[in-house]
Amino acid sequence: MFIPWRSSTLKFSSHVPCHRAFTTTTPRPLMATAGFTETQLTVRDAVKQVCAAFPPTYWRENDQLAQDPAEFHAALAKDGWLGIALPEDLGGAGLGVSEATIMMQTITESGAGMAGAQSIHANVYATQPLARFGTEAQLQETIPGIIKGETRICFGVTEPDAGLDTLSLSMVAKRTADGGYKVTGKKIWITCAQVAKKMVLLARTTPREEGRKASEGLSLFCIDLDRGHPGLEMRRIQKMGGRAVDANEVFFDEYPIPGDSLIGEEGKGFKVILHGMNAERCLLAGEALGLGYAALGKAAKYAKERVVFGRPIGMNQGVSHPLADAYMKLEAAKLATYHAARLYDASREDKSIRMDEVGVACNSAKYLAAEAAFTACERAVLAHGGMGYAVEYDVERWFRECLVPRIAPVSREMILNYVSEKVLELPRSY
Ligand SMILES: Cc1cc2nc3c(=O)[nH]c(=O)nc-3n(C[C@H](O)[C@H](O)[C@H](O)COP(=O)(O)OP(=O)(O)OC[C@H]3O[C@@H](n4cnc5c(N)ncnc54)[C@H](O)[C@@H]3O)c2cc1C
Repeated sequence: MFIPWRSSTLKFSSHVPCHRAFTTTTPRPLMATAGFTETQLTVRDAVKQVCAAFPPTYWRENDQLAQDPAEFHAALAKDGWLGIALPEDLGGAGLGVSEATIMMQTITESGAGMAGAQSIHANVYATQPLARFGTEAQLQETIPGIIKGETRICFGVTEPDAGLDTLSLSMVAKRTADGGYKVTGKKIWITCAQVAKKMVLLARTTPREEGRKASEGLSLFCIDLDRGHPGLEMRRIQKMGGRAVDANEVFFDEYPIPGDSLIGEEGKGFKVILHGMNAERCLLAGEALGLGYAALGKAAKYAKERVVFGRPIGMNQGVSHPLADAYMKLEAAKLATYHAARLYDASREDKSIRMDEVGVACNSAKYLAAEAAFTACERAVLAHGGMGYAVEYDVERWFRECLVPRIAPVSREMILNYVSEKVLELPRSY
């Protein structure tokens, strides 16, 4: 088997079958794989093998019990997958967003859905600013543990009073005499905060009115979460889908953090975080695609098997056409997604690729993939009739989860605002 890169921790060569067989327990994935690189397909095959040990029954139960999929996280860590896009000298595979995106797609597509993806999403994504801007000591202290699965990490940006207007966030990190900071304020919707040891946190170090530009005065930190400290509290949010993975309100009150938890320069945190945002759009797009293909595969299978009025329901064009249309929407979004990921990766070397081009491609991909996933999941529920509402068919779970890529990390409306302004040159509306 040709392994196109070397890594000390990735061990998937032994798992890769010599032919592309699909398991018989889950429906055959529908996505056309022509055009993907050998590396992407190798990643897809190997991750699929890991996911095969976690059937839909596992995800159904974890969803119902709101139970963290720790075994799944550990299985991916064991084979080195959490370091897919981290530098090789820190134990990662040093691959790009193109490969990380297909990994995330493969996870959701396996039936794990958004819960599976969200259980590792921050480990793959929130570590990027750290890997790029962290000091040697920060990297050595955090990255190997994250890759091995010993340190889980969460990402703390959203605040209840700021919402999508990130620049108006009000969490304060105030300098202390010992060179550290004390953090005060609220975060909301922080995924995996209950199980994470660390948080990548965005907070204000200079009051907004004192910063020259609105984007100045925010700083990024990688902090320890000491749940025993009286200055840190968390409250789990009851949510619609992806219940296996916790989402939280997190309250800081004069919570002390050391000075060396700062990532990059003080006051430049927004710039640091922007660096990773396009990559995150691609990962989310991949996650949405996987969910859509999984739902559509299940719907097509059901439409072939379910007989009403003496024939399979899929013989009715009222059933088959919406599914065929959903397939084409997913395939189109797939092209947009992997185009964006390729552009993002290429822009690291090729300085003729403008960052605004990358931004438009990544935002468009996330938008299109989220919409295509929603269409596929909704139609999959409807194609199942009453059974679409039954937990055992999984499509209701994926339907609940497919709203996440439409909302987070940036909503559909904000992407439309962005394209209106950056591409169509219409007046900025926000
Ligand atoms: C399941 C889940 C997991 C999440 N995980 C994390 C996480 O780990 N870490 C983290 O930091 N955040 C996380 N988030 C938060 C997520 O990124 C935010 O919910 C998202 O950015 C939207 O912000 P908001 O909820 O405050 O919406 P708001 O800003 O309150 O917006 C509400 C609505 O108004 C619309 N709107 C607002 N302003 C405008 C405008 N100018 N023009 C047009 N429409 C507008 C929005 O599009 C949206 O539809 C998560 C969210 C969810 C649901």
